[in-house]
Amino acid sequence: MPRSLVLKKLCDHFGDYTLVIVCSKCGYRRFSDPHTLARTVGWDTPVEKFASRLKCTRCGANNPLLSGEASTRPRGVPKSPH
Ligand SMILES: [Zn+2]
Repeated sequence: MPRSLVLKKLCDHFGDYTLVIVCSKCGYRRFSDPHTLARTVGWDTPVEKFASRLKCTRCGANNPLLSGEASTRPRGVPKSPH
């Protein structure tokens, strides 16, 4: 089981996680790479701030729940959130 992480900002856990976006209405889950999002919104963005901008691709509901899953990729590639 992947470890669940509590996120406040994108840069938490050094960006080394998978962002999990769960629709609060239909429960549809999708996964996103924080690095991709950070390029658009910035690493210091609180996750709630852009959660309100996201839309469920299945039912169109706004404001999904965001959490993180600990990355299962092997470590070794040095990453910097900045
Ligand atoms: Zn939905």
